[in-house]
Amino acid sequence: MVFKCQEDSFLKEFTSKVVKCEETKEPIVEYGKVSTFQGYQVTLENTILFPAGGGQPHDIGWLNNTEVLQVLRKGDEALHFTREPLDVGTEVAQQIDWARRFDHMQQHSGQHLLSAIIEKEHNLPTTSWWLGAEESYIELDSTSIKGDSIKLVEERCNELIRMAIPVTVKFCKANDPDLDEAHTRGLPKDCMDTIRIIRIGEIDENMCCGTHVTNLSQLQTIKLIGVEPGKKGKTNLKFLVGNRVTGTLRRMLQREKALVALLKNEPSKHEELVSKLQKNLKTANKNLQNVLLELAEHAINKVKSASPKPKYVFIYKKEATPEFNRAICKGLENEGLFMCLVSEEPDKPKEGQIIIQGPEIHCNALGQQITELLKGKGAFQNGKFQGKAGDLGGVNKCKKLIEDYFSNTQ
Ligand SMILES: [Zn+2]
Repeated sequence: MVFKCQEDSFLKEFTSKVVKCEETKEPIVEYGKVSTFQGYQVTLENTILFPAGGGQPHDIGWLNNTEVLQVLRKGDEALHFTREPLDVGTEVAQQIDWARRFDHMQQHSGQHLLSAIIEKEHNLPTTSWWLGAEESYIELDSTSIKGDSIKLVEERCNELIRMAIPVTVKFCKANDPDLDEAHTRGLPKDCMDTIRIIRIGEIDENMCCGTHVTNLSQLQTIKLIGVEPGKKGKTNLKFLVGNRVTGTLRRMLQREKALVALLKNEPSKHEELVSKLQKNLKTANKNLQNVLLELAEHAINKVKSASPKPKYVFIYKKEATPEFNRAICKGLENEGLFMCLVSEEPDKPKEGQIIIQGPEIHCNALGQQITELLKGKGAFQNGKFQGKAGDLGGVNKCKKLIEDYFSNTQ
């Protein structure tokens, strides 16, 4: 069966009768993402809602006020997935999410054009393609593609778009001798007896079940956005067509504007500025590290030279690094002191690190209470606790606990 959407890909409203409605638990697949579904599969006499096929995702839309979340083709039927059932025999007004459909048409016809040019003019056949939620790609039967070729292909495709070449659909029977001339790329697996051939002027002929633009000018523009290694021996060439190009540019400009405000300089300087910032941050971190180690040295000497000697050391330092804490522990390990060092995680100010060490009697008396107050995760090992603090909210209580304990201990 040739669906209404395949006869006229620009039809946005249509009325048809419900012929079947069955319960289903088949999942919904949205750009490769699978989610569970429980509802109904509705079959209509005919449909303008495209069922997924030929690499093109399904349409979404409405049957009267009932939302259609997915359309799948089974044999020569289109199954419309709805949450509520529809009565068999009723006439329903079909409506289509046109922005989504037109986007798919732009990407799909753009893919036909791109594949045709890259094969004809650069001898690189397309083995499959993917239409994603944001980006699409064609899979090329090659391990690499030259940067020069990418530029030439993009220019050539845009030149053909400017020439506003008509895109036409030809229907023929499966035994039609014309079929031999057309490529088989994109042909649905459960091939129907009526075959559709999509023709782009004299440039390309391809069997395909998808919905297409009627003129290359409707693609507006095509932008090749990069390559990535594909499956074994293949390369994926990523592309955007039409509204996706302008949409991406709009988002890039918004990000650029935000960066201009943050970096207080024009976009051409951004790379240089960010690189400088990263370098400065590295130097600042190194300097902080050195200062902290000097500070640790200072703190150690202060404790060692104090008279009378303190019974404990409690340090809560936001900017303390593991190196700082280790230096303190090492410097004071032979002083017979109780030590509790608390520091913050750099990106999670509520979380941190705890070190508890010292005479067993004090560790036994305080250890569990401290780790409970700070939601500590870890265990005492060889008389030392080193672990994560899940919540530093209790750090002042912790300080008080230690103070009180030692003021009552001889
Ligand atoms: Zn196709």
